[in-house]
Amino acid sequence: MVHSAQHAASYYAASSAPHPDHPFLQGEHSADVCIVGGGYSGLNTAIELAERGLSVILLEARKIGWGASGRNGGQLIRGVGHGLEQFLPIIGEDGVHSMKLMGLEAVEIVRERVERHAIDCDLTWGYCDLANKPAELQGFAEDAEELRGLGYRHPLRLVQAADLHTIVGSDRYVGGLVDMGSGHLHPLNLALGEAAAASRLGVRLYEQSQVTRIDYGPEVKVHTAQGRVRAKTLVLCCNAYHNDLNRELGGKVLPAGSYIIATEPLGEERARQLLPQNMAVCDQRVALDYYRLSADHRLLFGGACHYSGRDPRDIAAYMRPKMLKVFAQLADVRIDYQWGGMIGIGANRLPQIGRLASQPNVYYAQAYSGHGLNATHLAARLLGEAISGQEGGRFDLFAKVQHPTFPGGKLMRSPLLALGMLWYRLKELV
Ligand SMILES: Cc1cc2nc3c(=O)[nH]c(=O)nc-3n(C[C@H](O)[C@H](O)[C@H](O)COP(=O)(O)OP(=O)(O)OC[C@H]3O[C@@H](n4cnc5c(N)ncnc54)[C@H](O)[C@@H]3O)c2cc1C
Repeated sequence: MVHSAQHAASYYAASSAPHPDHPFLQGEHSADVCIVGGGYSGLNTAIELAERGLSVILLEARKIGWGASGRNGGQLIRGVGHGLEQFLPIIGEDGVHSMKLMGLEAVEIVRERVERHAIDCDLTWGYCDLANKPAELQGFAEDAEELRGLGYRHPLRLVQAADLHTIVGSDRYVGGLVDMGSGHLHPLNLALGEAAAASRLGVRLYEQSQVTRIDYGPEVKVHTAQGRVRAKTLVLCCNAYHNDLNRELGGKVLPAGSYIIATEPLGEERARQLLPQNMAVCDQRVALDYYRLSADHRLLFGGACHYSGRDPRDIAAYMRPKMLKVFAQLADVRIDYQWGGMIGIGANRLPQIGRLASQPNVYYAQAYSGHGLNATHLAARLLGEAISGQEGGRFDLFAKVQHPTFPGGKLMRSPLLALGMLWYRLKELV
């Protein structure tokens, strides 16, 4: 099996809270809303809808959190989308401003969910953007100014190279921006805690229940191998694992592999030499490095997006040199876990949150472009507002933005993206 399809090999699968089995779908069922996909998007949409009094069935092809939600870097970072000004002609200045505020709200939704449902997922506050070039540091100063202008309530601090060793034990960077309103967590435990919360709210969760066919219409009929759900509304939350369940949506997301290694436990002292304040960090390159410490003092080092559709044969052999470029002092350290997962890239990097023009009772959320931990929770809130008929127009802001279909069909999408990304990487070198 390819690495990006493996879940069991991850550090998270080995260290998660008990992972209860949910039944598979058998026979005829009905609900107000049927959700496909048991990651953060699906689980949180289920919570938002159940809290508003709707009956919900959620169908997951494998296990809850089996997709990106159970294997990601665990970095919970403010903001949604990228270069939101590109949408000015569509949603205007107020719309862009509103999206920026929602990018801040997204993290608060995670905070609130963790607190309200007492989810034990090692949530730790503190994150630092790292600059490889002086121009990036200048960009951080502008980001901080903009965030303060938006009323961001958490401490932000620009760190120059001379002080950066207080954040990261590497001399690879020229500075950073510390943000105490972003942080990191155990991603699978978050998903499992959210599934438990959804169950308590009455959501019916089914695992090993891959949706094989959808009959669209005023009442949607959703088929699995052994069961069927009838619902007034359908929500598709399959992201990079969509596999053209709905062709129109599948064509708008490019799956790209991202990979993580986990070292052996380093002991608190050695771990703190790497990341003295236990912050999550990310650099700014297209094929970025992202890393953080786990609660048991391992370094979880991720990065290296693969757009070719092919995984490295040996993830540890591939990722370890990248880790040693940052932390040469880890040359003697054992790698205990290695795994990969698929992120869903969208052409304009704005999460795709909307409903099908041809089927107004079919909603979707996808294409978080590797920055989905917070954005999935925002998407779920907006879907909850829209499907329950709550006024406000926040969902419509996202739904107004059209998302191009990648040319070339399923087989050509990945090679085309690989070429595109190569172009951006070459630009980084000049
Ligand atoms: C290695 C890696 C590192 C990442 N790091 C970060 C990070 O540090 N910070 C961050 O913000 N984001 C990160 N991301 C991105 C983030 O994890 C995702 O954006 C987010 O988890 C997407 O959640 P989702 O619920 O939309 O999709 P997923 O969690 O992928 O869930 C989709 C689910 O749909 C199910 N499914 C698909 N087809 C069907 C079907 N036909 N029937 C039933 N079920 C189906 C799949 O089995 C899957 O479980 C990372 C992603 C990866 C892969």
